Amino acid sequence: MIEVAELKKIYRMGAVEVAAMRGVTIRIDRGEFVGIMGPSGSGKSTLLHQLGLLDRPTSGRIILDGTDVSHLDDEQRTRFRLMHLGYVFQDYALVSELTVQENVAIPALMQGRPLPECYAAAADVLENVGLQKRLGHLVHELSGGEQQRVSIARALVNRPAIVFADEPCANLDTENSRTVLDLFRTVNRDLGQTVVMVSHEPWHMEYFDRIIFIRDGMLDEERIAREGKQAGSGS
Ligand code: ADP
Repeated sequence: MIEVAELKKIYRMGAVEVAAMRGVTIRIDRGEFVGIMGPSGSGKSTLLHQLGLLDRPTSGRIILDGTDVSHLDDEQRTRFRLMHLGYVFQDYALVSELTVQENVAIPALMQGRPLPECYAAAADVLENVGLQKRLGHLVHELSGGEQQRVSIARALVNRPAIVFADEPCANLDTENSRTVLDLFRTVNRDLGQTVVMVSHEPWHMEYFDRIIFIRDGMLDEERIAREGKQAGSGS
């Protein structure tokens, strides 16, 4: 479902080079809920951005949903994102002048679907996240937790194969974080959505099927083995 081989990303700023990703090989199966964890600056967001086609790696191969995306041009990448991928960001990235329903309909409209169909799809998915009573509200009339649920609905409106979430709870208190994580869990279980989430909160670990630990731009193999063993020993 997601296969990554020898992924490298070097950021160049003038004469300075930062090797943010130094050869990562991973596989994520369809329907998995995977956490990407590691210290600040270890390369978690860099990895997510390469997997989510929001950035291009310096080298390495990425296969998403059976497609080798390494060879796609910009237009093909945009189309692929729209058809197969969904995104949730820590700052929600909603359009403040639009209603909740309009925000959620945007990715469906971008696919060129008829307006009534897009609004119906938005209403459907807003019901999934428990916001069916908020369709006509403007974004600023909602709490942070509700806004993040709107952005989850927007990520799901095209029923993408994979949802990428970059620290979606970073601006939320514990109660709202739990609501959001429970929602991802439900979406993962009930809709079969593959979810890949960056997090640095240890207590989020209980929600993930599997954790990919990153350190200094590489897989932290030792920690993956240790945590894997601990998780396995309880069952
Ligand atoms: P994390 O998400 O684990 O905090 P990041 O992926 O954001 O880590 O960053 C990994 C490394 O790459 C850091 O040293 C960071 O400073 C560097 N980096 C990230 N994005 C850029 C960029 N656009 N330009 C230059 N360096 C960057």
